[in-house]
Amino acid sequence: MTFLKLHAIRKSYGSVVALDNIDLSVEAGSRTAIVGPSGCGKTTLLRLVAGFDVPDSGTITLGGEVIAGDGHPVPAHRRNIGIVAQDGCLFPHLSVADNIAFGVNAERAVRHGKAAELMDMVGLNRAMLSRKPDQLSGGQQQRVALARALARKPRLMLLDEPFSALDTGLRVATRKAVTEVLSAAGIPTILVTHDQAEAFAFAEQLVVMRNGTFAQVGSPQELYARPVDPATANFLGEAIILPAEISGGYADIRIGRLPVDDREYHGKAQIMIRPEQITVTGVANESLASGTIEDMSFCGPAFTARITLNGGGASFNVNVPSHETLQCGDQVSIKVIGTVHVFKGTTGSNEQ
Ligand code: ATP
Repeated sequence: MTFLKLHAIRKSYGSVVALDNIDLSVEAGSRTAIVGPSGCGKTTLLRLVAGFDVPDSGTITLGGEVIAGDGHPVPAHRRNIGIVAQDGCLFPHLSVADNIAFGVNAERAVRHGKAAELMDMVGLNRAMLSRKPDQLSGGQQQRVALARALARKPRLMLLDEPFSALDTGLRVATRKAVTEVLSAAGIPTILVTHDQAEAFAFAEQLVVMRNGTFAQVGSPQELYARPVDPATANFLGEAIILPAEISGGYADIRIGRLPVDDREYHGKAQIMIRPEQITVTGVANESLASGTIEDMSFCGPAFTARITLNGGGASFNVNVPSHETLQCGDQVSIKVIGTVHVFKGTTGSNEQ
């Protein structure tokens, strides 16, 4: 069941079109992530939903009630929407208990009892309730911010880059904890993030934004495997994009003849291969395409190798396990597994 619906939303700031004809449905109890380059309109979208700003046109419906777009916007404090921002925005002079209980309408003892329950829910020790925010780590502060937002029993949660100030390990742990809490509470949530991996891990529905519009909406798996265009493909991860001639369910490309994900398509088009579909080996194999390692950089479990296809032209990055003894200048055989994705409507030249 759709809980939040944005229909034909437009918002401009002077000559800058921040949002252009946006449609979005968020199901009850679901998790949506929005990714896109800086300035594409992500925060503007959250601000309109939260009620901090009003759309120029279009409607926003929450739980069946029109909250913006009918000329009488519901003010932010009546929308009952929880918000957790990048820095948590805790009140520095209040204890953790008072931060969480802030705005909860009940007697002090009841509010503090509620704060203690919420500490359990977000996985923090109740002993921290008497501390001030500056006596907590960044991840603990973000969990307190989540507890504070949950205290008001929000109908919808908006997370605006809430993990970006945390280091990698803490970021993953905090994100998992927050995801579990929100799922258990059944609160529909929208996360805005710059981190594609975070969006993949968090979301059931993923939105890729570009220049105030939605480039694509769908499941993270669908968008990663079948991006709508080369720009979306590259935004969501490393993509090898090559011109191809397609017929009979196969693409003829410089790496070989490979099965495509759109068996009906005929003609020229660009295709995409994700690097994890490619294995390279130093053992010569005449039935496979060959290339040269131009560059190798160590990244822990693997080397990232820049390979150029022999005969000139395309080059791409692939991961090579650290135990392989390949080095710059080596010749490699290139094997592709799985199907390659066809970008319908592209001409097959190297337009990107
Ligand atoms: P970032 O990832 O950098 O936070 P964003 O995707 O959240 O970016 P928005 O903050 O929504 O982008 O901004 C979208 C566009 O609207 C930008 O071009 C921005 O400069 C412009 N903009 C946002 N708020 C205002 C404002 N109050 N006045 C004028 N322009 C604004």
